[in-house]
Amino acid sequence: MIRLTNIKLPLDHDDAALTSAILTTLEISADQLQSFEVHRRGYDARKKSSIVLIYTLDVQTCQDAALLEKFAGHQLIKATPDMTYQYVAQAPAVLAERPVVIGFGPCGLLAGLVLAQMGYRPIILERGKEVRERTKDTFGFWRKKVLNTESNVQFGEGGAGTFSDGKLYSQIKDPKHYGRKVLSEFVSAGAPDEIMYVSKPHIGTFRLVTMVEKMRARIIELGGEIRFSARVDDLQIEDGQVTGLTLADGEQIRSKHIGLAVGHSARDTFQMLYDKNVYMEAKPFSVGFRIEHQQSLIDEARFGDNAGNEILGAADYKLVHHCKNGRSVYSFCMCPGGTVVAATSEENRVVTNGMSQYSRNERNANSAVVVGIDPSDYPGHPLAGVEFQRQLESLAYELGGANYDAPAQKVGDFLKGVSSEQLGSVEPSFKPGIKLTDLSQALPEFCIEALREAIPAFNRKIRGFALEDAILTGIETRTSSPVNIKRGDDLQSLNTRGLFPAGEGAGYAGGIMSAAIDGIRIAEAMALSINNSQ
Ligand code: FAD
Repeated sequence: MIRLTNIKLPLDHDDAALTSAILTTLEISADQLQSFEVHRRGYDARKKSSIVLIYTLDVQTCQDAALLEKFAGHQLIKATPDMTYQYVAQAPAVLAERPVVIGFGPCGLLAGLVLAQMGYRPIILERGKEVRERTKDTFGFWRKKVLNTESNVQFGEGGAGTFSDGKLYSQIKDPKHYGRKVLSEFVSAGAPDEIMYVSKPHIGTFRLVTMVEKMRARIIELGGEIRFSARVDDLQIEDGQVTGLTLADGEQIRSKHIGLAVGHSARDTFQMLYDKNVYMEAKPFSVGFRIEHQQSLIDEARFGDNAGNEILGAADYKLVHHCKNGRSVYSFCMCPGGTVVAATSEENRVVTNGMSQYSRNERNANSAVVVGIDPSDYPGHPLAGVEFQRQLESLAYELGGANYDAPAQKVGDFLKGVSSEQLGSVEPSFKPGIKLTDLSQALPEFCIEALREAIPAFNRKIRGFALEDAILTGIETRTSSPVNIKRGDDLQSLNTRGLFPAGEGAGYAGGIMSAAIDGIRIAEAMALSINNSQ
């Protein structure tokens, strides 16, 4: 097959336009074209009045080889790469010990699935509950302010991304096309086919829930085992080799191959690993607020007269500003047509995040606006970043009224430095509720200064971004892991053999897709290591 990239067509083009673009690009006649499929469809909306769709197409002709020779060296016409996933190993007929994966978020899910597909019958341990029970607990917290510290937005089947926008794109390099494997597993589990080709795929919360259940069933069918309410509280390490683990109820499981996919909120687990001398370092992350505008404002600013177009959907944005004080402020985890959610996993703390449904048709757009933080801002200890997050989350709890409502402020008042007294045209979506206040107390001064510079700068890119009535809700602290549990080229911990730190919590991913890809990587590394040791 031949891959054509950068085929640009107007937003309102008809079906025949794709065929004629192929014929023109390859200089062939209609009878030479056998078939084609869309590999990727994105858009360029920089000129609102003439938005173009940009396609990557895989084309089958009756003379592929000759055409590839004719266009040899052409940057946009190449042979379609083989993207089929190849398993790196097969489990031995008799497994001395089963591999274990800790955590059943996107990283643990894909690690478990791929290990199961290769015949390794993994045991997967998840501290939270299965997804339906977890949904009840999470929605219960949002409605009634009753927090279950083991079953919430961060913990439970599906991991942190289950109640999310379900954005499935990542900017990481992926030469082995693992992302394709992840997407095709998601489609097999019920995700819409379009995630295979749209440039910014997303699936929304409700579909994620059913997909996770189907993937769990598949792992079990293949001989894997998934245990919920199974928190790992200790590791056994002998002469630098992990030999097993202990669950919260005291049960011990022996294994010399343990995948560690615990996410960025497993603070007690980080502490346990630190106490066990597993090597880790503090790493940069970001803190800030969620900002909410009416979605119609963002649609209009990004798409002009094309706002509401079905192909474009609800508009998103991605913004960065480098501040005079040396800090960078950027938008993060933008959720078009979504809601701001309470994302704490610890008592008496407030954390914000965002989610949406597949339709993205709620009234508001939300995104985190965050400031980069460096370990030099909280020096001293590999876990000092966790303490820094905790302090800010506790402060936000107090500012919100000490009842899990979040502190909030209108953007106009934040920029002027006055406390907000009443809401304007933007109705905040945060559940359980917000308390209007002065958010300048919620973050260190250098963060506030950076945000006050960045928001007006963002307004120059998205007209209305600094709208007087837009709402800021605090506080966003769980943007990525505050630690990096270092691993070597064999993906094993630098000082603990057999332990495979992975995903967002270990500092090797940021988002559903990159965490899932990292899960495949450790599954492969664990499989190869098992085969070498048997
Ligand atoms: P997690 O998903 O955090 O999974 C870790 C799992 O390990 C958890 O289920 C936890 O319960 C379990 N665990 C922790 N400690 C232990 C232990 N000691 N024993 C047993 N189990 C343990 N990313 C996107 O790409 N797109 C989005 O739209 C998006 N939206 C988001 C919305 C929200 C509300 C949140 C909270 C996050 C969102 N993210 C999004 C981020 C994304 O969810 C994470 O990047 C991703 O889930 C990380 O995957 P992971 O498997 O590494 O860790």
